[in-house]
Parts: sequence; C-alpha cells; structure tokens
Amino acid sequence: MVILKYKDILEKSGFVLAVIAVLATLAAPVVAQEPAAPPQILITNVSIFNGTSETLITGQDVVLNGNTIARLVPAGSGGTQFDQVIDGKGGYLSSGLIDIHWHMGMGTTEAEYFGDQNYVAIHSAKEAGEQLLRGVTTVRDTSGNVFGLKKAIDTGVTPGPRLYPSGAIISQYSGHGDVRPTKATNLPKEWGGPEGLGVSDGNMLLVSGRAQMLAAVRQQLFLGATQIKIAVTGGVSSFTDPLYVEEFTPEEIQAAVQAASDYGTYVMAHAHSAAGAIRALENGVMSIAHGSELNEEAVKLMAEKGAVFGINLEVYEQLKPVYTDPIRKAKLDQAMAGAGKGIEFAKKHGIVMGFSTDLLFDAKGRQQELNELVLRKKYFTSPEIMIQATGNGGKIVGMTGKRNPYGKLGVIEEGAMADILIYSANPLEDVAVVADYENNLKLIVKDGNVYKNTL
Ligand SMILES: [Zn+2]
Repeated sequence: MVILKYKDILEKSGFVLAVIAVLATLAAPVVAQEPAAPPQILITNVSIFNGTSETLITGQDVVLNGNTIARLVPAGSGGTQFDQVIDGKGGYLSSGLIDIHWHMGMGTTEAEYFGDQNYVAIHSAKEAGEQLLRGVTTVRDTSGNVFGLKKAIDTGVTPGPRLYPSGAIISQYSGHGDVRPTKATNLPKEWGGPEGLGVSDGNMLLVSGRAQMLAAVRQQLFLGATQIKIAVTGGVSSFTDPLYVEEFTPEEIQAAVQAASDYGTYVMAHAHSAAGAIRALENGVMSIAHGSELNEEAVKLMAEKGAVFGINLEVYEQLKPVYTDPIRKAKLDQAMAGAGKGIEFAKKHGIVMGFSTDLLFDAKGRQQELNELVLRKKYFTSPEIMIQATGNGGKIVGMTGKRNPYGKLGVIEEGAMADILIYSANPLEDVAVVADYENNLKLIVKDGNVYKNTL
C-alpha cells in the first residue's frame, strides 16, 4: 500500500523527516488562523466627562473593545473577562482632545518648510508623537502635504494623532496662499512664470477660475483629503493681501463646494473679514477659520447655515514678538483687536466652535498648543472649553460625512472610538489642568492602544 511505503520512507530517512519538518514550519503561516479577538479593557474608579455635558457622570465603568467604547456599565458590574483592568484612581476621564486647526508639517522654520521635504516629514513625525502625549488624539490638518504621515500613523509606523488632511491650501494668485516673492517676472505659471513656492511639494496650490478650482479640489480628494481648505480673505502671515481683501469669486467658491460635496464632504475657509466670510457662507462653505473681523450679520449667517467656527488666540500671542515688519505687525494688531467681537457674537448665536490653534513655524511655541484652552477662559467657562476640545471637535471632523475614514470621535459613549484620557484633577473646574498635561495627564489611550499609563 502506498501509505505503508510512504511510512517506511519516513522511518528510514532522517533527512526526509527533517525536510518535512522544515516544510511544515514554512507552511504554517499560510494556514488560515482565527483572527485574534480585540483586547478588552475595563476602566474603573473614574468620574466621566462625556464630551457634551457639563455634568460629570459618576458610578460608571467604561468597557473598551478593541478600538471602540463597547459600553458604560454600573461600577463594579463589568465582570472579570478583561485582558486589562485600569484603575482610574478617582481621576477624571475624558475623550481625547481634537485640534481642528493644526498644520502637521509646519513645525519647522518657514524657510525649512519650503526646503527639503524629507526633513519636514521627519520633523512632523517626531512632533506628532509629542502631540499625542499632550492628549491630542485627533487633528484636522488645515493645509499641507501630510498624506504620508497620516498613513504612517494609521498603520502604526509612528505614533501620533489621527489625521483629517485637507491637502494643499487652495488660494488665488496674490492671495493668502501665494508666497512667491513679489517680482514682475513672477507671473502666474500659465503666463510662463515659475511655479509658486510650496506648489510642487503639495503644500499650496494657486488657481484661477472655475475649471482650475474644480481640478484643484479633485486633486486633493484624489490624494485622500477628507475636507478642502480654501483662502477667501487676506491673512496675517501673507504680505500682499490686507485682511479686508476678498479672495475667490462666488463662482470659484461654488466650484470648490460642488467638487467637495460630490465626494460627500465640505469646504473650510480661511476668512478674517465679515464680507469674506459672508461670501464664503453664501456659496456653501461650512467651516470658518480665524474670523477676526466678523460682524453680527456674518455670525448670524453662520448660524443659519449650520456652519462651524474656529478661533485662535495663542498663535497671535506667539507671533507678536516675531512679526515686527510693519506689514505683518499691522495685520496682527488688527486681528488681535477684532477677535473678541466675533467670539461674543458666536456665543450669542450658539455657533459650534472647536479647539483650534494654527501654531506655525516655531517648534517650541507649538508645545504650548494647550495654552489656547487657558486663553479662552477670557470668554468661556472651563466646561464650555472642554466641550469645544472634545464633543464639538468630533462634530466638526464628522462633517466629512461619507468621506470620514474613522468612527465617532470626541465623546464617551457606546460605539465611539476608544480615545481616553484620565486626569488627576478636574478639568471642568479649571481647564488649566489640561494645559499642565505633564503633571495631570495620567492615561492616554488612542484607538484602544495605551500610549501612557502613570496611574
Ligand atoms: Zn492655518
């Protein structure tokens, strides 16, 4: 019989046995295996800030199943079947922080940003790890070529917050994203001039007219943008466009909104002046950044359209000693003087505001990201600021709709993504607790993975 013959050979030949053993080892990984069950974590002994309510939840434990929050259960009733039990030691549990205006690539100097992109990428990866250790678990990147970094973070190559990339900022020629030196020979590319700075790196894009706007937006979506960023007024950091300048015609803005909404997502706009913000909102823009010159009419329109708003106070403080040239100094003074009004109107009309910082070109300054929360105490209570930094941030990144690569963020509830922070003091009593993260932040979980635990 064949079987006996085969058995005989096996018994007689040590060599054959060895070969079979090696082949069996090589073959092993090919055999289909049951996927490992996602790790189950139980978190006990905490007061819970759920991202939307100003009242803490007590007497509940939190159960994580892989990268989602499975459920909240009455304290002590979770059972014993967990891979890990984390005793919160009476601390304050919050969802991870969401910065809705951050540029992952802009931690270098301005000159370096327009130079070697390998250096920029390495610098960004290092900063992303530091940002996660501040408790920022999600970032809406509001312009820059960060698609590779997003992939590296999502696949676990390097630690960092999850990213919602906008891709290149889309600007008109002579607009906020146009950083070409002002020389007569620097014509638009279509007229034979050189390409704008940062364009070939994927960080900025200069367009004219409806057709180019459609192509520019689709190009960012092609690369993986989750939302689109356009500049519709002058800006503080650019030299040739005062803050009052309105950028892009209604037709161009409509084109951007059309191309984005065809992909199920939205357009955000850099806008300082009321007129610029109104034009953007009337033509479908759903998210306004800066708004230092807003009037009540603009904010009312924001409310009517259900649009959201992001201010940035800390960056103005940081730029004060840097922008000493007369052009940028005047613009910065103007933006700082006007910022408060827009905030008061936004409060009055119940606009959804996120935590947004826009810190740029100063690595040390960017480490003060959470000081934005403290500066907001001039206008908001600590619970209001915490809601901006979590639940509101989740609503804003959730506006990506069909384009959203992730689950529900910014809240502690069943089915939301497992981003968990535990502070040793109560951030609802004073949000400065969050800014002093080195002393107070004891646990950081992002996507169900524990990045810090000093409880
Ligand atoms: Zn910005």
